[in-house]
Amino acid sequence: MKKGIPQKSTFSAWFDAVLKEGEFIDIRYGVKGFIVYRPNSMSIVKGLYHMFESELKKNNHAEALFPLFIPYSSFKKESEHIKGFEDETFMVERAGGEELDEKLIIRPTSETAIYPMYSLWVRSYNDLPLKLFQSVAVYRYETKSTRPLLRGREFLWIETHDLFLNEEEAKAQIMEDLRVASKIYDSIGLSFIITEREPFDRFPGAVESYAYDAVLPTGEVLQIATTHYLGQNFTRPFDVGVLNKEGKRVLPFSTCCGIGISRSLGALIATHGDDHGAIVPVGLGMLDVIIIPIYHGGINNDVLNYATKVRDEVSLSGLNVTLDTSELTPGEKFYHWELRGIPIRVEIGEKEVNQNVVTIFRRDNGVRKVVELTKMGSELNVLKEEINRELSNRGRDVLSKALQEVRTKEELLKASKQKSIMLADFCGRKECADEIRNASGGFEIRGRPLNLDYKLMDKCVWCGNKSLRKVIIAKAY
Ligand SMILES: [Zn+2]
Repeated sequence: MKKGIPQKSTFSAWFDAVLKEGEFIDIRYGVKGFIVYRPNSMSIVKGLYHMFESELKKNNHAEALFPLFIPYSSFKKESEHIKGFEDETFMVERAGGEELDEKLIIRPTSETAIYPMYSLWVRSYNDLPLKLFQSVAVYRYETKSTRPLLRGREFLWIETHDLFLNEEEAKAQIMEDLRVASKIYDSIGLSFIITEREPFDRFPGAVESYAYDAVLPTGEVLQIATTHYLGQNFTRPFDVGVLNKEGKRVLPFSTCCGIGISRSLGALIATHGDDHGAIVPVGLGMLDVIIIPIYHGGINNDVLNYATKVRDEVSLSGLNVTLDTSELTPGEKFYHWELRGIPIRVEIGEKEVNQNVVTIFRRDNGVRKVVELTKMGSELNVLKEEINRELSNRGRDVLSKALQEVRTKEELLKASKQKSIMLADFCGRKECADEIRNASGGFEIRGRPLNLDYKLMDKCVWCGNKSLRKVIIAKAY
């Protein structure tokens, strides 16, 4: 009998149960906001890292690794940056039983770790552009209630830190960052909105901030990646100067991009999962195919041998496959692997052996298909594409269902009760943003959308003053 997890409509309980019962995450480590990634989630984490890292390298980024600790003197050099992060940093004040001469900040992000080194490395325009990334965990003392993967105090990410001789190249980098992230988020079927954040909502020290908000099944949005144009705000205080072609010393322009791997994993499970558990796209998890031998009574050696032969053939096709020979009943095995989101199941019983066929079950739509053994390889190749395409289509549906254009205060308040994601005209004033948040129960101006079509109207949805731009208004997770 199925133990069962809560229905997905009760999202919070469902999400926690999938992470726990599916053995993705363990929250019992004992430090608030810190979780343990078990093998089922680490395989997806590694897959996500690999996808982003190879795309970054294709676009001329190189990998580096900077220390976890940032000297306090470096950390406080950019004034906006320190204001924005000081209240949420972890700090080391003692070591070896002694008070440290200089306090050490545990990186909440690494600009202030990296720029002092950049000031030593770049000398002339020939050293630019400099495009580095690192794949690490960062630490922020999150004061809101923490949730595994979605809001933690330690989270996995990739951060890029790029220097350019001129402003145009730096701004072109922002567009490249947006293309890279869009390509990957599209390929794993996440539903997302890219926005330019409002001036009052920028990354501390940034001139322009852009963000990826994943759309969760609850209608809430989750910031999963950001990219920022920093102008000379970091090269100036860290004195990162180069000699230009004319031999004059100039300050480079810089950008940074943060890709939240923990949150991307959380959004992936939240978006694709169903009442039976997680659904992982083909090629991303620990397993793509699970083979279940079905016996009536004791072990049937014909079935087992045939299943072993099938496993060997599947593994030739490059898919990650395992044959489940445990003592669980077939029903228990189905439940076990469905919960973990394995996208393809191959069922093998006496019927399959006698007819020289396999029964293939798709986790995403629950459809079973009997296929001749000789055609299994080509069938799996087709399925691999189809399943991932289906997940991407569903991801896009999540957004189109949740998105609603609102033109008046009344429409805005009504849409907030329906948990919609709103598209509205906005005057750009923080006062309006604050009033909207208070009146709607927490809906925020997320910024001007870059990946949606719309027509600008003339009046702010809230105050009726002249509208400066269309914005997304949504509740953040
Ligand atoms: Zn307004």
